[in-house]
Amino acid sequence: MLGCGVVGSEVAARLQSRAEALEERIGAPLVLTAVVVRDPDKERPGVDASVLTTDAEAAIDGADIVIELMGGIEPAKTLITRALAQGSSVVTANKALLAAAYGELMAAADDSEVRLEHEAAVAGAIPIIRPVGDSLAGDRIDRIMGIVNGTTNYILDQMDSQGWDFDAALASAQELGYAEADPTADIGGHDAAAKAAILSSLAFHAPVTIDDVHVEGITGITAEMVETAKDQGFVIKLLAVCERVTDSPAGAGLSARVYPALLPRTHPLASVHGAFNAVFVEAEAAGSLMFYGQGAGGAPTASAVLGDVVSVARRKVLGGRGQYERPFHPERRVLPISAITTRYHITLDVVDRPGVLAAVSEVFADEGASIELMRQTIGEVDDEGIQHAKLVLATHENTDAALSRTVDRLGDLDVVRAVASVIRAEGQ
Ligand code: NAP
Repeated sequence: MLGCGVVGSEVAARLQSRAEALEERIGAPLVLTAVVVRDPDKERPGVDASVLTTDAEAAIDGADIVIELMGGIEPAKTLITRALAQGSSVVTANKALLAAAYGELMAAADDSEVRLEHEAAVAGAIPIIRPVGDSLAGDRIDRIMGIVNGTTNYILDQMDSQGWDFDAALASAQELGYAEADPTADIGGHDAAAKAAILSSLAFHAPVTIDDVHVEGITGITAEMVETAKDQGFVIKLLAVCERVTDSPAGAGLSARVYPALLPRTHPLASVHGAFNAVFVEAEAAGSLMFYGQGAGGAPTASAVLGDVVSVARRKVLGGRGQYERPFHPERRVLPISAITTRYHITLDVVDRPGVLAAVSEVFADEGASIELMRQTIGEVDDEGIQHAKLVLATHENTDAALSRTVDRLGDLDVVRAVASVIRAEGQ
């Protein structure tokens, strides 16, 4: 085992405490031969100190299974590649690495006829990799929409349920240990983007990396946006969307994107509260499926790691070839966000006078976009004695490019004092 931190220590403890049950399920005992760490002198309760080492290469050599839980790109990538090349199956939770090199590592596993399992890399304890890769292998997955980052879901959920602003919700997440001291990877959407890349690679058999994913975080979400959403029957969630696109101005392809979006409160993902994760899968024959549970934490993540360990160990005991899951369709490219069909909800601060609605409608008509719903509420009178109004517009589906151009032009109108917020809507 490479790494013995939050997840590794839970895996090591369970390899010991559940040894009998694991042996029963596998048909052979599992022996933890080495645990690679940076600091072998650190106190690690429940871990046999005699197997701790800093020599990763020696630890890997001759191992049937290598469990990589150190994280980061290097030295994890080199060590996993070494393990696969010598014929060891590998179990990893390393989303950062898989989001950068999924195709390359799967091909290495395939070449050596071993397995590279990674259930824990997406949504912690939730079984989603095996359902997508195996259970639905006979179906066609069209769309995956997930809440795959617990920190941001906690923050948005507190803003929604407690009326807190973003800073207060983030501070609470940090206090509870959901958010790191530097929360950028979570609130910037990058952690969710890594998971979107892995899910897209697996579901669409295409080499999707994190650089292909369009990412927007939640730092721009205000208490007022959450309140406006609530008034209209929506909740704001940070969503990872992986989609098969059959028709767009840029042709057919895939979409992999992460952004905060409005969801109808009746949508199954709207009821995912706190730091929980959920993944909503739409497949051609299966229809809609939802997977729900804890997306992080030492013990929940260890559950997924151990499931993978049992799976590769069973294969080792029974014999049989390993990988097959090469993302072999490089022509399935990820389309730019501008070509993707979305819906916007736009809130404008406008001057309350005749002709405003006509001016706004004209911009929409010019850009070939259309308004599904418009709601105006009276605002404040400013220092110059001008009466303002709040105009909330929900658009029909259109390309992101057309909607984005529409917003730019609305902002230029004399009667529009400010574009108060723009947010996409999903799940309608
Ligand atoms: P962690 O607590 O930081 O533990 C990392 C472990 O790896 C430590 O034991 C550390 O050794 C060891 N390590 C790091 N770099 C090393 C190096 N160069 N040489 C030798 N040992 C090294 O990390 P974690 O939270 O357990 O996460 C592990 C992996 O699981 C990551 O890929 C992460 O993305 C993934 N994951 C984590 C969670 C979660 O809830 N934590 C959930 C899903 C997936 P020392 O102990 O000596 O410092």
